[in-house]
Amino acid sequence: VITCRAAVAWAAGKPLSIEEVEVAPPKAGEVRIKLVATGICRTDEHVLQGCFPNAEFPVIPGHEGAGIVESVGQGVTSLKPGDKVIPLCLPQCGKCSFCLNPESNFCQKSHISEAQNLLPDKTSRFTCKGKRIHHFLWVSTFAEYTVTPEYAVAKIDAAAPLDKVCLFGCGFSTGYGAAINTAKVKPGSTCAIFGLGGVGLSVVMGCKAAGASRIIAVDINKDKFAKAKELGATDCINPRDFQKPIQEVLTEMTGQGVDYSFEVIGHADTMIAALASCNMNTGICVMVGELDSGSEISIDPMLLLTGRTWKGTVLGGWKMRDDIPKLVSSYLEKKFNSDLLITHTLPFAKVNEGFELLRAGK
Ligand code: NAD
Ligand code: ZN
Ligand code: ZN
Repeated sequence: VITCRAAVAWAAGKPLSIEEVEVAPPKAGEVRIKLVATGICRTDEHVLQGCFPNAEFPVIPGHEGAGIVESVGQGVTSLKPGDKVIPLCLPQCGKCSFCLNPESNFCQKSHISEAQNLLPDKTSRFTCKGKRIHHFLWVSTFAEYTVTPEYAVAKIDAAAPLDKVCLFGCGFSTGYGAAINTAKVKPGSTCAIFGLGGVGLSVVMGCKAAGASRIIAVDINKDKFAKAKELGATDCINPRDFQKPIQEVLTEMTGQGVDYSFEVIGHADTMIAALASCNMNTGICVMVGELDSGSEISIDPMLLLTGRTWKGTVLGGWKMRDDIPKLVSSYLEKKFNSDLLITHTLPFAKVNEGFELLRAGK
């Protein structure tokens, strides 16, 4: 058993508290990882606010980390102590019908099919002050050590800087893949991205890499525009600067609406606005943002009847164990620069300050 620090969410609506926790050794088929760095994604904020579906408290959140394998349980063959890894909040069991389908990146072991609040044997490896602490998506990266199943870990290049590639555990991969894999953006096309957080800015990078000729970035926080332009946006607009709805503004700017639109905020009204912003016939709208659990959307069916496609993405369509190592290699070959997404670097004990920066739009 290892005793180390972790940021525990004891109840919804409370800040994280840094605690000493015990991390039990990995059981058969599991690995224990020493985490080196983690990002903060808006989804972690959904957990803290208590609006992430089926999460259970107390919990150690965090799902965008990178680290080094410390020890492995019985039967683990693909990983060994010392390997650099990214724990995967979307596993790839390699055996379910979705994993076996080359068109799919989903896995039936994922949280949406079956809760990942405890490890597959329905026990936890974390305790604190004698209490059982839940895992989050099996990765719980707000801890110095974590335990996950082998099939929820990607082994990456030993040269990868862990404080940079931790973003590949969620935000960067999701946004970049939403453009490349889910929308399949074509060269010369027009795109609109609603929401310029870490994920939305990664969509901008994906649209640029795919050769889009016009990339329109949309946010109510104009402080995001300089970074969006640096990453490839050709136009930046603030919906609050216009009297008319933003979908009308985008339709006028592009003639018939954009070829691809992306909602990367997580609000029902912007999801509908993004859908209405892509052209009525061949437009594709990708839903990336997550609505609070239990919310519903209603739309005018005419939006879809004329031919638009509305689709969602989980982690940008990557088959995580297979593709994340390749994405890390592309980063090392300097095919894109995801380092530009990093705004602040803080010591672990200041994790709550990190959330304050997220809430302040910084
Ligand atoms: P973030 O909070 O950093 O960014 C959201 C951005 O949206 C901010 O810049 C904010 O100013 C902007 N915004 C808010 N309201 C707006 C409005 N009405 N119009 C225009 N812009 C508005 O969040 P993030 O970490 O980039 O995550 C974005 C979303 O993606 C979240 O909902 C998150 O849960 C979701 N997410 C989904 C997946 C997936 O696999 N589908 C993965 C990661 C994150
Ligand atoms: Zn995330
Ligand atoms: Zn699977």
